[in-house]
Amino acid sequence: MWIGIDDTDSPAGMCTTYIGAVLVRQLARSGFRVVEARLVRLNPNVIHKTRGNAAICIEAEGEIEAVFALTCACVEAFAEFDAPGTNPGVVVSRVRPPPDFYYAALRDFCTVEEAVEVLEAAGARYRGYKNRRGLIGATAAVASDLPDRTYELLAYRTRENWGTPRQVDRSSLFRAEEMTGPHTWDTVDRENDVVVCVPHTPDPVLFGIRGESPAWVGRARSSVRSEGPACEQVYTTNQGTDAHLVPGQIGELREGRSYLVRGTVAGSPTTGPGGHVSFLLADEGVEARCMAYEPTKGFRDVVRRLVPGDVVVAAGSYKGGSLNLEKLGVCHLADLIRIRPPVCPACGKRMTSAGTGKGYKCRVCGARSREPEAERVERLLQPGWYEVPPTARRHLARPLVRGVPAWEEALLQSGRKCSRLPHRQP
Ligand code: ATP
Repeated sequence: MWIGIDDTDSPAGMCTTYIGAVLVRQLARSGFRVVEARLVRLNPNVIHKTRGNAAICIEAEGEIEAVFALTCACVEAFAEFDAPGTNPGVVVSRVRPPPDFYYAALRDFCTVEEAVEVLEAAGARYRGYKNRRGLIGATAAVASDLPDRTYELLAYRTRENWGTPRQVDRSSLFRAEEMTGPHTWDTVDRENDVVVCVPHTPDPVLFGIRGESPAWVGRARSSVRSEGPACEQVYTTNQGTDAHLVPGQIGELREGRSYLVRGTVAGSPTTGPGGHVSFLLADEGVEARCMAYEPTKGFRDVVRRLVPGDVVVAAGSYKGGSLNLEKLGVCHLADLIRIRPPVCPACGKRMTSAGTGKGYKCRVCGARSREPEAERVERLLQPGWYEVPPTARRHLARPLVRGVPAWEEALLQSGRKCSRLPHRQP
């Protein structure tokens, strides 16, 4: 059977993955075999999320009513029921619902009624607490389909430590990354010298190590020195897979969904207040704004090097009318031509403008020329993929160390075939 749980925490504490880890242990203690523990991330643009829009699914074997009772008791014991935004959902089903609902919750928005319809069709046992919103995530977790999967080892704190500063040896995390990267990722951000895997929120998580197999996350974990954890759980996840992205077309992007879109840079990138960088991306006469926010740090320098005429593919969520960049594929670089007054053939000095439409004049010998000097400027960017640093990466975003999925690469290659007029810079 598949057990789904969601919406148990609040900004003040708790974490659904912790309840999942506790339940895994309670199931085992009660004699139920646990086959897999899964952590799925759903649409990152859902406004009701507490942090990362996670839900969990545990695959187990045993008697369904007993498991349902145990799961509800576990959620009732740990969920933050008093928090106004916490609306837990519990699902236990012998039949795995079709994955459509998972994909809808991952890439779009769903209602409680739609979740209930799926649960009824599957003959599932379910309980929605308070406004029952947690049933959406719990149903999606149970229906989840992970054609691409990664793993996360989550270590949890002992109860007396909750809310206090976490004691995790910084250098041991850098060592863990050194020993196991690129098979693990997002433990630390070397470029920005930041620890990524230790949260700062008052929840029970001590740290989380992400990687491509249980063996790799386990190996990284063995290097980490920290306060003694209460327990550890390895989850199978959809993190780092780009499962939230769908191919999109400028002009048809819908608010709150995440896309990979191809277009031509239509305006020079500009840096706005707060250090956020934006530019216009156009396709067939329609434009969309792309944003690289300040937390994306050095990624903004990549964006700043774009010039009008470059053909790119941009990945990110479409929110407030902008595509918030997670990744950028540079398909084709426009020629960047610098126009300036020519050098005087007689005396070797650079000429100056003789006035609008009057060409150029040498201030030394008086020679004239109509033609400016056109110089091709070296581009400080190569075609290929660029991503935000680990410190700014979304849970679902696929790190480049994992490679690029075939459909994303195909979109990038399709952009290479476009030939564009050279861009002229004054
Ligand atoms: P937690 O650790 O408790 O899971 P979280 O950051 O993952 O914290 P939740 O507290 O679960 O966020 O809140 C997300 C809420 O949004 C849940 O009630 C979930 O059922 C719901 N939800 C998730 N995905 C969607 C979606 N695509 N459409 C509508 N509601 C969704």
